[in-house]
Amino acid sequence: MKTNRATADKSKAEILALSEDMTPIDGYVDVKIPIDVLWEAFNRPNTWNSWNKCFSWAFNNELKLGKQLIWVFEPIRWWFLYKMPAIATIVELEPQHKVTWEVTILPGFYARHTYYMKDLGNGYTRFGSWEKAMGWNFRLLKRFWLAHFTFVKNFSLKGAKHLEKVYSQHKSLGEQYLRLRKDWKFSVAEIRDEFLKFIAECSPLNPPLAQRGVSHMLGDFERSFPSRIEGLGGQNPPMLGDFEGSVPPRIGGLGGQNHPLVKQHWKFFLSLMLLLVVLGSGSFATWFYLSYVQQETVEMAPGVYAVLGGGGNSLVVEDGKEILVLDPKFPTGAQNLRRWISQNLPDRNVTKIVNTHYHYDHTQGNILYPSAQIFAHRQVPPLMMLRDGNWWKSHQEYIPQTDNLVNRTDTLKLQNQEVILTYPGIAHTHGDLWAYLPKENIIATGDLLFHTYYPFFDLGEGGVAIPQTIAAIREIAQKYPDVKFLPGHGPIATASDLQQYANYLEYLYQNVDNAYKQGLSIEQASNTIDLSQWHRKILPSFHNNRLTWATAKSNIRWVYQIVEQELDTD
Ligand SMILES: [Zn+2]
Repeated sequence: MKTNRATADKSKAEILALSEDMTPIDGYVDVKIPIDVLWEAFNRPNTWNSWNKCFSWAFNNELKLGKQLIWVFEPIRWWFLYKMPAIATIVELEPQHKVTWEVTILPGFYARHTYYMKDLGNGYTRFGSWEKAMGWNFRLLKRFWLAHFTFVKNFSLKGAKHLEKVYSQHKSLGEQYLRLRKDWKFSVAEIRDEFLKFIAECSPLNPPLAQRGVSHMLGDFERSFPSRIEGLGGQNPPMLGDFEGSVPPRIGGLGGQNHPLVKQHWKFFLSLMLLLVVLGSGSFATWFYLSYVQQETVEMAPGVYAVLGGGGNSLVVEDGKEILVLDPKFPTGAQNLRRWISQNLPDRNVTKIVNTHYHYDHTQGNILYPSAQIFAHRQVPPLMMLRDGNWWKSHQEYIPQTDNLVNRTDTLKLQNQEVILTYPGIAHTHGDLWAYLPKENIIATGDLLFHTYYPFFDLGEGGVAIPQTIAAIREIAQKYPDVKFLPGHGPIATASDLQQYANYLEYLYQNVDNAYKQGLSIEQASNTIDLSQWHRKILPSFHNNRLTWATAKSNIRWVYQIVEQELDTD
């Protein structure tokens, strides 16, 4: 696995070298500073912002190969309302020669940045900056990125000239001669406000809508991590925060200090912020909100509602004074769903929940319905514990109860409704159920069907079995040609959409399997197999503070790993 990754990264650098997405932004300046003195000053990233004005702030005491480097960029124009956090990994380090890092944290974005030095003799050194990027995300916002890279190069070279001046005065580049700009302190709320302003300016379609989406996402982050963030570097004296009227935990030293959770949350937070910068740079924010955060309700039959988006799709079945909810999403979509229910179906109680499978985006919303019975396949509780054990340990009462577990099939009798639950065999996971409402002629497939989107594949123990998924989908489509289908993700579908999706899975699986058997690497497979003819859309997932995307490439990579596993165990 480790060697795989290393070779993958290497070939990514090679692909970048060949990429025609941009010509590298390169430039240098010669300064009268001996190379050892200049390198020593350069090797203190935490002082970069004292001479290089593209950095608002940078963390890490020294450059180390394989380590992450975290910093915050100033905006390319001083009046732009953003600061852009970034995380990079140092992939090359040759003291007094060069340092290279790569940026991989954004989907569809890969960049390498090198600072290099050359001894020119007589106490002179050449200092240069080189940067190149590629990927769909880069191409989408190419104008912004080129302006940004040029800004970084120009200010870095200007900074070297500034160091030359300091050196000529003091014959040293000691920290006492480099005046650090004031550490900036901020709270989550302040950053949020700044970004919201920025997004409001940039989002052409419907800024308030986009704002609300982002606000919800960040609001949720704040609630789950109600702390004051200060000084980022952790060098400041402790300060009492003002969240929720209590003394909150302090976030310090980004990687410097001990709490692993802090690190985890920071990565999530920084990647979210970085993503938001990109979102804010165009209509991206609006697109993201409309595509993934906003919920849409469709009345599939009288009293039967599909609530689409904001996590997995949900089915709300009203039955007299009672309500059944199938797949109640995950926060924050789950809160929005519950709000919708209480506003649109008042004075009724959610008494039954069905989880079509264990995945967090279909099940974590269980916790909003304390009086409901929760139904699922019998494999769901063990899979919940296997994959998200810590989370479910603290929400044990929302794991489906033993009496409500389904083996093969079960019929839930409501007052005026019947909901037939069926286990399709091992498919999207080892514990799926699909639900059939015979009276209304509606089927909720759970994640047996991702309609119009690239699917997520569950890797590892208890995970997907692709051929069985295909067979299950075809069987349901044949047996119920005239039913309205609610997929796990995507809009309402028909039986022929199910067949189309089975075709897609078949094509993907066969092509990856062939590539694997021909000896292609995962990288080669993802570069040669073309899925564009299927016209699917990318789909994000926020899990364990990580943002991942189902895309053509990730679909190929995941299936490649599945094929690899299958052949390993054969
Ligand atoms: Zn799923």
